[in-house]
Amino acid sequence: MNSQSARYFSRAQKVIPGGVNSPVRAFNAVGGDPLYVVKGHGPRITTADGRELIDFCGSWGPLILGHAREEVVEAVAKAARDGMTFGINTPREVEFAELLCSLVPVMDQVRLVNSGTEAVMTALRLARGFTGRRRIIKFDGGYHGHSDGLLVGAGSGLLTGGISSSAGVYVDEGDVFLPAYNDKQAVSDLIDAYGDEVAAIIVEPVAGNMGLVPPVDGFLEHLRAEADRCGALLIFDEVITGFRFGPTTYGEQVGITSDLTTLGKIIGGGMPLAALGGRKEVMQRLAPVGDVYQAGTLSGNPVAVAAGMKTVELLVEENPYDQISNVGKKLAESFQGLETNCVGAHNFYLSQLGGVFTPFFGRGPIRNLAEAKACDTKAHAAFFHAMLDRGFYLPPSQFECAFISAAHTDADIEAFISAVQDI
Ligand SMILES: *Cc1c(COP(=O)(O)O)cnc(C)c1O
Repeated sequence: MNSQSARYFSRAQKVIPGGVNSPVRAFNAVGGDPLYVVKGHGPRITTADGRELIDFCGSWGPLILGHAREEVVEAVAKAARDGMTFGINTPREVEFAELLCSLVPVMDQVRLVNSGTEAVMTALRLARGFTGRRRIIKFDGGYHGHSDGLLVGAGSGLLTGGISSSAGVYVDEGDVFLPAYNDKQAVSDLIDAYGDEVAAIIVEPVAGNMGLVPPVDGFLEHLRAEADRCGALLIFDEVITGFRFGPTTYGEQVGITSDLTTLGKIIGGGMPLAALGGRKEVMQRLAPVGDVYQAGTLSGNPVAVAAGMKTVELLVEENPYDQISNVGKKLAESFQGLETNCVGAHNFYLSQLGGVFTPFFGRGPIRNLAEAKACDTKAHAAFFHAMLDRGFYLPPSQFECAFISAAHTDADIEAFISAVQDI
């Protein structure tokens, strides 16, 4: 059924390590040959074998408007015709920075980069430069891109591959503390012991790389208070959550002020684009005004900015968030009472917030990495394949989020629900 995909994968394995340009695409966690996709439109993707699938992965988050949204494609084509890159400032960068700062008031200033990894790497360097301190508190299972200092206790593909760190990474002991997500006491204990050495607390305000794990009541407030207590910066890594639950960041929505915020995925509209922003006093430490270096040949690329700008404008204009969230709730209801024995799991818990969800094959609620890891990944793999056979593409790992887009129709959702009930 997937013979073209299988052929491409076998060719790929000869010339690309593991056949993929990002590990999770290899389907190691779910088994079977990974898919090759030739096009996407709205909520659907078409595989190299001509199969149409309804996509709930959305390129891991960027595609909140669905695939190849007409206005975004137009904006990209128009920008490309005017030149793909200059390495010189363009008016569009200024307009986009103004738009982001106006929608995310906690950001006085913003710098554009090419990937979430770069945004977070720079945010950390900036926090260390600004505070003159070295230690970082991140949470076990939090994924903040693949820069060296952050591949410690990281989630996402590292978790999927069953490793929580990487060879070739030398991080001094004590540089990165790894309390459990949602564990307020652990953070307080670390600040008690090392507070005056901590440069930053970095957190996904809603964890998305150990599967979807929302913050417990008071957790983010606690981080703000503890950062203030010791003079560390609070960094919200909003690469997934930014513009996900409303036309702003999650931090803005819940009224908690971060010192630095990283954005990516949605704000690039499907192109390689990310950003870091925050308090002016901190951002002014970046070169060329400050002493913390950061640069990029393609930073603020005009084609990428055109895609991001149009995407953000459409999100503001159309405000699809209530609609998406209602669909999310409907899906969550349909999962209730799901007979999971069919995939060999004894427990089932659907984690859902707005249009984001993770079916966990374990006992809920899931509040941290240890609880996520206790889930039955074999059952998850069986569920993934059962849904794929029925025409639905979900993230091929237990430790990732599925995303509902504004392009999913009621009929798509009904079909998804029937498929789940049919398993
Ligand atoms: C995806 C992600 C990143 C990394 O972004 P890339 O564009 O893949 O480099 C960083 N932080 C979080 C929270 C993410 O989900």
